Amino acid sequence: MYPPRFEYSAPRSLEEALDLLAEVGDEGRVLAGGQSLLPMMKLRLAAPAHLVDINRLPGLGSITDTNGEISIGALVRHADVATDPTVAAHAPLLAAAAPWIADPLVRNRGTLCGSVAHCDPEGDWNSLMLAVGATVVATSREGTRTIPIADFVVDFFTNALRPGEMVTEVRVPKAGPRTGGAYLKLERKIGDYATVGVATHLRLDESGRIAQAGIALTSVAPKNLKVTEAEELLVGNEPSDELFAEAAEVAARTCQPTSDVRGPAEYKRAVVRTYTERGLRRALAEARGEA
Ligand SMILES: Cc1cc2nc3c(=O)[nH]c(=O)nc-3n(C[C@H](O)[C@H](O)[C@H](O)COP(=O)(O)OP(=O)(O)OC[C@H]3O[C@@H](n4cnc5c(N)ncnc54)[C@H](O)[C@@H]3O)c2cc1C
Repeated sequence: MYPPRFEYSAPRSLEEALDLLAEVGDEGRVLAGGQSLLPMMKLRLAAPAHLVDINRLPGLGSITDTNGEISIGALVRHADVATDPTVAAHAPLLAAAAPWIADPLVRNRGTLCGSVAHCDPEGDWNSLMLAVGATVVATSREGTRTIPIADFVVDFFTNALRPGEMVTEVRVPKAGPRTGGAYLKLERKIGDYATVGVATHLRLDESGRIAQAGIALTSVAPKNLKVTEAEELLVGNEPSDELFAEAAEVAARTCQPTSDVRGPAEYKRAVVRTYTERGLRRALAEARGEA
């Protein structure tokens, strides 16, 4: 199917793009990799009047190591995250998860920031971002603001951007010593969206107790779901199989899966329980240097 008619602009500077976004307001949309927006337009699930293509903007395609964080620019593709040495060294959880996004064609065009902005509850990146505590940088003509990912992911396909704003980068805290994580994704076949995805992240203190915990779920709620209750249960405690089983039970209780072509709700809930427990064990082994 063809999409409805729309205006198209391809600005060559960030200033020009921000002017255009301010002008078109609610009627406009950023076009990044186009891997979600264009299919939605062809299916007539989205009908923006004006697309602002950001692919010609300079300076948004790099991954940089700054002030204890990795900055991922708005034109960094999923495939870049999979192979970038800075990501491999300082955010190994993201490097390991990137090959699980879609298929090679989509990974070569789709962007991490586009996925974050899209807020599809079946998207993988926002679970990872919630687990590691990322920050989104939103830029408009008025300036720049940083938004914690937990505030940015508002609801089903809904983010916290204001009209005229675009995501220019996502910042991820560098994995320090005694940290580990896992992204476990059940998919029907390679390249499919998750039936269930579970991101886990742990940081231990010097005595081996859990200093920081992140757990977030894909495809089992109207948005990527941060399981705060399970995270709070873990923090301050000695890691153990019993504790992880308890946290997994909380995650299974908290998620809101629905039955669909990918499986019945109760099956998905059982996978959340198993993957949360397994993910926490893997995160612990990595944090202890045993993985
Ligand atoms: C066959 C197929 C399989 C897929 N499988 C998976 C999968 O397994 N896991 C997964 O996570 N995803 C999957 N996807 C989605 C894919 O990862 C997309 O690349 C991603 O969701 C969106 O990134 P994009 O750069 O293509 O964004 P676009 O499609 O260009 O944009 C998506 C939305 O985000 C907005 N947007 C994009 N960039 C910005 C920005 N910088 N600032 C503000 N708003 C912005 C757009 O306006 C639009 O509303 C799949 C897609 C396809 C086609």
